Amino acid sequence: TQEVLDVPDPLFPAITTGSDAEALRFSDRALSYAQLGAAAGALAGELPSDRVAVWATSTLPTSVAVVAALLAGVPAVPVNPKIGERELAHIVADSKPSLVLAEPGVELPAGLAGLPRLDVTLEGDGPVPATEPDPESPALIVYTSGTTGPPKGVVLPRRAIASTLDALEDAWGWSASDVLVHALPLFHVHGLILGILGPLRRGGSVRHLGRFSTEGVARELADGATMLFGVPTMYHRIAETVAADSDLSTALRGARLLVSGSAALPVHDHQRITAATGQQVVERYGMTETLMNTSVRADGERKPGTVGVPLAGVDLRLVDEAGAAVTKLETVGEIQVRGSNLFTEYLNRPDATAAALDGGWFRTGDMATRDADGYVKIVGRKATDLIKSGGYKIGAGEIENALLEHPGVAEAAVTGEPDDDLGERIVAWVVPDGERPTPEELADHVAKLLAPHKRPRVVRYLEALPRNDMGKILKRALG
Ligand code: ATP
Ligand code: MG
Repeated sequence: TQEVLDVPDPLFPAITTGSDAEALRFSDRALSYAQLGAAAGALAGELPSDRVAVWATSTLPTSVAVVAALLAGVPAVPVNPKIGERELAHIVADSKPSLVLAEPGVELPAGLAGLPRLDVTLEGDGPVPATEPDPESPALIVYTSGTTGPPKGVVLPRRAIASTLDALEDAWGWSASDVLVHALPLFHVHGLILGILGPLRRGGSVRHLGRFSTEGVARELADGATMLFGVPTMYHRIAETVAADSDLSTALRGARLLVSGSAALPVHDHQRITAATGQQVVERYGMTETLMNTSVRADGERKPGTVGVPLAGVDLRLVDEAGAAVTKLETVGEIQVRGSNLFTEYLNRPDATAAALDGGWFRTGDMATRDADGYVKIVGRKATDLIKSGGYKIGAGEIENALLEHPGVAEAAVTGEPDDDLGERIVAWVVPDGERPTPEELADHVAKLLAPHKRPRVVRYLEALPRNDMGKILKRALG
């Protein structure tokens, strides 16, 4: 049965009480909770009642703008500042913001120039609004990463945000003494909801790096930070350097919690980090539409290659192609989730909303298995990562992990392409590390580790894999 979490009131108790503790810091600029409340309170008083766009640079004004909109009950649409013209035009036409919030002095692209602009200052001084908006009212409209198609505007109510943060607090023991190292973009749920709203809800603090670097991570962790939230490309950089960098390994060793999400963390990278630091990375699995679905407890067993167990308030089931529940262990099904963490709808897309829901359950499009302890192992996305070859259903992720264990492979992606004999044949896209391993060598390596039918039939070499701003591999750009 489903445990529905109550939405406590207010969303940000520490902002409402206005303490002098540090809330946010970027470089040499810091804001206390009292200063953040005053700046966001002043801005909240100037906002219209309908949607606003936020030009989401990775700096303090973006956080102030989002907090102001949340306090005022005005839906905010974070916009990627590196967005292309076409995608920006789509988001503006779809979400129709009444104005755009931006940091002073920053130039906006032509696609936003037609909108009124409101500059976000850190010095504002106004009261924090006294009333909390309705928990079901839209708080944020976040566009999906566009990994599998054009981004969709996901309408997130306050209830879903509060619910997911409460579940993570329960799992991770998140507290006011936590200090997060933040190097994620602020226009997706990972960097914005987990990375900013999470610490602010708990009375903890955030240190922005602006840009990810292993030096920045080492410096902040050595200087009192307790947690790092990252995407797998960041952990890959850490895995590559940590054995030879004693500042980094010492800093990571002292961290309370290292969390990875947004894409699968390669087992090989996880193992190298554990070997050098003694730390195991906590994986979590979530998405824009459902916020967070699974993770492990801070003191719980972590099984590399899995994303843990359902969080409090989240019901999770696996479903086969006929729509029946998969109960057998280690058997692949599509993940469906239900709970207080779910979105309201896709903006202007009743068709897509209806198609995504199965009687209250959200069809994630992700395929997974479960083990006897209930740990979920993601096999990949139904649309791109499940290869039907020679009568077998093969998950791309397993082969990618095997390829990455080969010393001559720096990055790997696996896809299927039509084949007269097999239905689909396995194609490996490989970024070599140093000398290029031959296709036969790689195929034999996979066959030996996994099974003969999982050997890549074709190997293609690239200088880099196509990735989006979250480091996710864009498989639709391969081939
Ligand atoms: P779009 O929906 O536009 O194609 P997207 O699905 O990449 O883009 P997001 O909502 O940002 O947009 O990403 C959610 C997806 O990321 C999940 O459905 C899942 O496929 C993947 N994902 C997130 N966390 C993990 C993880 N720990 N392991 C594997 N995959 C993950
Ligand atoms: Mg998606």
